[in-house]
Amino acid sequence: DVRVRFAPSPTGPLHIGGVRTALFNYLFAKKHNGSFILRIEDTDQTRYVEGAEQYIIDALNWCQMPFDEGPGKNEKFGPYKQSERKHLYKEYADKLIASGNAYYAFDTSEALDFHRKDHETKGKTFIYNWHNRLKLSNSLSLSTEEVKAKLDAGDDYVIRFKSPQDETLHLKDIIRGDIKIDTNVLDDKVLFKSDGMPTYHLANIVDDHLMKISHVIRGEEWLPSLALHYQLYQAFGWETPEFAHLPLILKPTGKGKLSKRDGDKLGFPVFPLQWIDPKTNDISRGYREDGYFPEAMINFLSFLGWNPGTEQEIFNLEELISAFELERVNKSGARFDPDKTKWFNHHYMQQQNNDELAEAFQALHSELSEIDINYISMVIGLVKERATFISDFWNLSHYFFTTPTSYDQKASKKAFKEGTTELMTQVISIINNTEDFTVESLQTEIKGWITSNEISFGKVMMPLRLALVGALQGPDVFDIIYMIGKTETIKRIENIIT
Ligand code: GLU
Repeated sequence: DVRVRFAPSPTGPLHIGGVRTALFNYLFAKKHNGSFILRIEDTDQTRYVEGAEQYIIDALNWCQMPFDEGPGKNEKFGPYKQSERKHLYKEYADKLIASGNAYYAFDTSEALDFHRKDHETKGKTFIYNWHNRLKLSNSLSLSTEEVKAKLDAGDDYVIRFKSPQDETLHLKDIIRGDIKIDTNVLDDKVLFKSDGMPTYHLANIVDDHLMKISHVIRGEEWLPSLALHYQLYQAFGWETPEFAHLPLILKPTGKGKLSKRDGDKLGFPVFPLQWIDPKTNDISRGYREDGYFPEAMINFLSFLGWNPGTEQEIFNLEELISAFELERVNKSGARFDPDKTKWFNHHYMQQQNNDELAEAFQALHSELSEIDINYISMVIGLVKERATFISDFWNLSHYFFTTPTSYDQKASKKAFKEGTTELMTQVISIINNTEDFTVESLQTEIKGWITSNEISFGKVMMPLRLALVGALQGPDVFDIIYMIGKTETIKRIENIIT
């Protein structure tokens, strides 16, 4: 059974890199009829941020990636919050001590600092492993009695993994292939602390095992932990899941990792949803609030590090599920392109239902509150091919709702020539005399008059458009005339010739 998990720490809002990790897990799970699990990794209470957990859940829901198991949902391997699993981990740390794979250490942070500095002055790096273990204060350097005395006295301790000397580890990653690691460069990572809390490493491995996770798909920043994780599985005698470490997401320049702070600096959101910092009340922009459709977000995230191997770029969720393969994920960093996100949104704008767009558009502008929703919906049908966001609609369509009061100057110069007033007067009378007021008849009458009098097209159409729109923009003039109606059309033409 394929079982994958997204395991964020609720230390703040999820950034788009986190959403990409969730997406690749989701796609992989669905492709293999497996389960997508959400686990909240909140063992580090000092970094816990109010509201972050709900934000994660809201973001997954907005992106249409519901989890199959997680907090409050189908809790068969639950609880899914590590703080609620606290009681579970000590037993596993003890098992590692009993099997000789872990040991107690009592070093104070001052002592560790001292050793670090001391090494530095000698031009060396301090590694807490067999190189230095015996010079430090731990159950490998102290006698059994000394250790017992310290534990009985309630001294602070940590439990460290005992990394072996002179071994080569052979690790496997689906994206990166085989990786060899010399254990001499690994330090004895802390697994558990005397405050009763496990560290990320221990909790993560124990939970992945207990939750029967088959594939661990996560960001590249966790690659350095892979050696320890492999050794932990070995030490416990558990089957190791398969690993896939996703490439970094790079800044638009391609230089350096895209960070949470880049959004404000570079002018695009780095979060799926708006985030209001609970301490400072600072607002960070979100894709949702910026007017992106979740389909567009999913589509552009899917291309951050993956490609289908064909020219196709537009994929809905179903299509992504069937096309997605971890083998097609790249090792090298994926450059984030904010313009491309707009291109995707423009595409998905065209797929939206006009009635729904009309409601969202109406809600944004008080000028529209009294206007028939069907009329707004028809206007959207005429302008949406030029829109990327719902917030573009007003600029593209205001003249369908309000009479122009100013005219683009350059356009006026271009459109107004000798004889324009006479021509427009004639257009008014044609419109007045057109019996059935449809796009077709209006077009036939006006175009017919233009051709039979051998007038140049622009001489009529430019001032006419300017009168109706206030600028030389917009959809077909006859559509506009039909939409705003006879009286309004005549009024607007009169406005520019009197
Ligand atoms: N809690 C880790 C994080 O915040 C999980 C890493 C992993 O997936 O193993 O990303």
